[in-house]
Amino acid sequence: MTAREDLNVLAWGRVHRGRHFVSDPATRNGVGAAIRETAEAGASTLAHGLGRSYGDSGLNLGGGLVRTTGLDRLIAFDRAAGIVRADAGLSLDALLRVTVPAGWFVPVTPGTKFVTLGGAVANDVHGKNHHLAGTFGSHVTRFGLWRSDRGEIECAPDENADLFALTIGGFGLTGVITWVEVRLERIASAMLEVENIPVDDLDAFFSLSERSDSWPFTVAWVDTLARGERLGRGIFSRGRWAGNGGLNPHRSGGPRLPLDAPGGLLNSLTVGAFNRLYRARPGARFHGRQHYDPFFYPLDRLRDWNRMYGSRGFYQWQCAIPTAHMREAVRVLLDTVAASGDASFLAVLKTFGDAPSPGVLSFPMSGATLALDFANRGADTLSLLSRLDRVVAEAGGRLYPAKDGRLPQAMFRAGFPRWTELEAARDPILMSSFWRRMTEEA
Ligand SMILES: Cc1cc2nc3c(=O)[nH]c(=O)nc-3n(C[C@H](O)[C@H](O)[C@H](O)COP(=O)(O)OP(=O)(O)OC[C@H]3O[C@@H](n4cnc5c(N)ncnc54)[C@H](O)[C@@H]3O)c2cc1C
Repeated sequence: MTAREDLNVLAWGRVHRGRHFVSDPATRNGVGAAIRETAEAGASTLAHGLGRSYGDSGLNLGGGLVRTTGLDRLIAFDRAAGIVRADAGLSLDALLRVTVPAGWFVPVTPGTKFVTLGGAVANDVHGKNHHLAGTFGSHVTRFGLWRSDRGEIECAPDENADLFALTIGGFGLTGVITWVEVRLERIASAMLEVENIPVDDLDAFFSLSERSDSWPFTVAWVDTLARGERLGRGIFSRGRWAGNGGLNPHRSGGPRLPLDAPGGLLNSLTVGAFNRLYRARPGARFHGRQHYDPFFYPLDRLRDWNRMYGSRGFYQWQCAIPTAHMREAVRVLLDTVAASGDASFLAVLKTFGDAPSPGVLSFPMSGATLALDFANRGADTLSLLSRLDRVVAEAGGRLYPAKDGRLPQAMFRAGFPRWTELEAARDPILMSSFWRRMTEEA
């Protein structure tokens, strides 16, 4: 018997939470044992990494979770070819400490380094370089997968190819990934040449995006309180690896937010004050060098920053809009937010490229992506999100399940029409709260 604990587990947005039977295997055989026991008990379970998914896709309320963070060994690192193979519970945080001094970086990184390799594959995460590098899954060469019906198997583009494609962006439902092999990107330095450029409106954002195609990393912060002619104003940031400057990895630590902020610190008044200061600070117009840690991971500086939204938590919402409709749809989305009087603290706008992912259910599509977050104010917040959903649906876009804990079933099915292939390939003992919502018949 593997040890199991009855624990209250929270998603990163802290709206979705609840009791789970959690097992913590530290070896691949331990994963197998946890899966066998779940199958024998006729129960369900789900792999759980570092819990950085905001909604309910990483939870399995009332069922089990196999927490993978004890499965964290580096198995092999070819320093000449830049190919690394590691346990699926290894975090990017730990991986980068080894690979950066050797001159290699992960080919794609999300906005936090506190994600596991398994989580990065299961959500086929994207980063600031999507327009040139595609998703994380595009750089994965093979992985191990434990299934209740087949034991541990290997998946690669030429081996169990359909499971390879359905596991990349498969929300953890095709099996528990035990190890991942990924091709890294060569870097000459841990520093980036960075330009932060204030933009006055949405047209300025899109025009600068077009002119920055050769910059590997681009993203913009948007002031969602700006209206009228200033709609879409913000700060456009672009970066490229520097040719020199040392290969020092990031340091560990940083302060933690020890408590939930009483009543939530983030409301339209505080966000308005923050936005004014953010645009006026010297770094808003900056051309210079920056270490990768503040460039890619500014939020990691304050651990548990998600507690700033108070005990009721917050909703993240992220859409992808196809190129043909992106300008108009983003305009309507920002207008809807500004008119609502609610404010999004972390509003991020970026254009996606057209590199296809090997993942069948990957989120990115050629066009634009807008990510917003809102403190949970109950029905008012849900009503605003529904209005935003409608704009995305009309534009032929989709929402990111890793971020969203209330994504409506019809919208998911329309945005990811191949979801039935995932359901057919799902390991029968694996289930998540999200997948239950997406598959149950009304
Ligand atoms: C501050 C912040 C910034 C972010 N920025 C981005 C971004 O820029 N781009 C982006 O794409 N995402 C972004 N994310 C989302 C995050 O990258 C994903 O949610 C990621 O999947 C989380 O990894 P995790 O290890 O925490 O996995 P969890 O959140 O614990 O799990 C995520 C999913 O992966 C599955 N899973 C985890 N491990 C395994 C495994 N071993 N085998 C099978 N399935 C597994 C789970 O079942 C679940 O479905 C961000 C999140 C935060 C908090």
